[in-house]
Amino acid sequence: MNEGDKNTFGSPLAKYKLVFLGDQSTGKTSIINRFIYDTFDGKDHPTVGVDFISKTLNFENRTIRLQLWDTAGQERFRSLIPSYIRDSSVAVVVFDVSSKSSFSNLTKWVNDVRGERGSEVLLVIVGNKIDIEEREVTKAEGEQLAKEHDAIYYEVSAKLGTNINNLFMSIASTLPGAEISQMVSPNQNPLNDNNNAGNKGGVVLNTADANKEKPAKSGCC
Ligand code: GDP
Ligand code: MG
Repeated sequence: MNEGDKNTFGSPLAKYKLVFLGDQSTGKTSIINRFIYDTFDGKDHPTVGVDFISKTLNFENRTIRLQLWDTAGQERFRSLIPSYIRDSSVAVVVFDVSSKSSFSNLTKWVNDVRGERGSEVLLVIVGNKIDIEEREVTKAEGEQLAKEHDAIYYEVSAKLGTNINNLFMSIASTLPGAEISQMVSPNQNPLNDNNNAGNKGGVVLNTADANKEKPAKSGCC
């Protein structure tokens, strides 16, 4: 273990793998970009295969690292996905509230997750693009589906940044060992990377980490 795998108290860093799933163009990459960089460029981000990025969240006396695995929704990459689901702590399944078909396909993704991990995984269903007024899926429909699958439900807009931090806070607070609500003072936002001096805001770009932590799996087809 190197120093990067320890928190400031020298204890091992708690690391959690989050895999992002859902149809192409639902906004998975945009959600991750909004969370990590607080940007939105309005472009498509055709993820090739699977890619990951790590973000360290600092709390008053605890640090956890979230490893965000972005997948491509295209059919040709589907065969890769089960192996990423298999060792993840959290599955974030994204649909587009302005696309009924992305919502219909959600069940397929959820079944993939439950098939691989059963109840061993925290399942989060996210309706993205709530800035678009012409919705094809209501909040009630999203909530109902989440209830049926024993999942957390969040609606967000990667474009405006709505609810993005809340989404990740909610996920982090359910992970063992990260008692955020008790540990964050009102003036300290654990998602604010200014807390992480000298490490590009706590963001660890994937290449080095991919080699170090997951030698065989990163990359594409
Ligand atoms: P992915 O294939 O799931 O990774 O989707 P992308 O992140 O590449 O986004 C697909 C398209 O949806 C792009 O044109 C994004 O600009 C757009 N998009 C993503 N999030 C939002 C959002 O919250 N609101 C709106 N209006 N467009 C979004
Ligand atoms: Mg993408």
